[in-house]
Amino acid sequence: MERHYDLVIIGAGPAGMTAAIYASRAGLKTAMLEMGAPGGKLIKTYEISNWPGIKGTNGAKLANDMFEHSTHFGAEYLYGNVVKVEDGEEYKTIICEDGTEYKAKAVIVATGTKERMMNIPGEEENVGRGVSYCAVCDGAFFRNQEIVVIGGGNSALEEALYLSEIASKVYVVIRRDVFRADEIVQKAVEENEKIEVIRKHVPLRVIDDGNRVTGIVLQNVDTKEEMTVETHGIFPYIGLDPATSFLEGLDVLDTYGYMTVDENCETKVKGIYGAGDVIHKNLRQVVTATNDGAIAAQHAFHEIKKI
Ligand code: NDP
Repeated sequence: MERHYDLVIIGAGPAGMTAAIYASRAGLKTAMLEMGAPGGKLIKTYEISNWPGIKGTNGAKLANDMFEHSTHFGAEYLYGNVVKVEDGEEYKTIICEDGTEYKAKAVIVATGTKERMMNIPGEEENVGRGVSYCAVCDGAFFRNQEIVVIGGGNSALEEALYLSEIASKVYVVIRRDVFRADEIVQKAVEENEKIEVIRKHVPLRVIDDGNRVTGIVLQNVDTKEEMTVETHGIFPYIGLDPATSFLEGLDVLDTYGYMTVDENCETKVKGIYGAGDVIHKNLRQVVTATNDGAIAAQHAFHEIKKI
């Protein structure tokens, strides 16, 4: 099956949905391709407190509002797991896992990032049995229990704060003796009586009883001594990697796999844009993602109308 559009947007997070609003409102025949629920990381975020005009809102609610808005001007929302994008003279071809192909004059890639795994024994086989990368989705399974969060960045500390409202205790494991997160989040963690920080330790292996997680073995980075924390819930938040494997071969990625774009959010392949967390940038936030989506869609609109 082949379908033709002016613009195909891959990924329906804040960047993709904003691009859909701008493009369809400008009159482009637009489709958003998404392999999960619309909203991207927003739906996994408990609270958003830095979206201008709203002091505090729930991530899933904001995602839902954005989704309704993104299809309001006629953009189509389609399921698709994109495995390849090909550049052509007249059209770009977007190929999905099930063989469906879409043709578009321009493509905006807004696929974001995916959670980095710890890559330690016992992790992969215990995903869904105690290892989780989404506190908002799975935190409630561990009500009044002790939970372990791995990492010291904004994600880890913000999720630890969220989990502290559910769990009886939250251990935060960091590999240095300092956090990477913003000061304000660090302060909240340090003042939280339910959170205990285990410094200078790295995760070594996840242990289970064949059914579910029963603990995690940590290693002191200086002494190499091992310790076991008994827990049924482990939440690794150790960073993110860009979801760009389907772009390999197009020469639009940097050495870390992020997309390299210019001030119009366009890559060096004309008509292929990047927007949101997937591009090389300093600040990955909802507000900067929406900014990229608007810029990319507006530029694509002008280029398509020139054609
Ligand atoms: P970060 O890269 O900021 O932090 C990753 C954390 O995990 C660091 O503490 C790092 O340690 C640790 N880590 C990395 N690899 C390992 C490992 N193998 N074993 C143990 N620990 C490890 O990732 P985040 O996901 O927290 O954030 C990504 C981006 O999103 C950042 O730019 C962040 O600021 C932003 N963000 C902003 C938010 C907000 O402003 N509200 C909310 C969430 C994210 P070390 O420090 O030693 O390298």
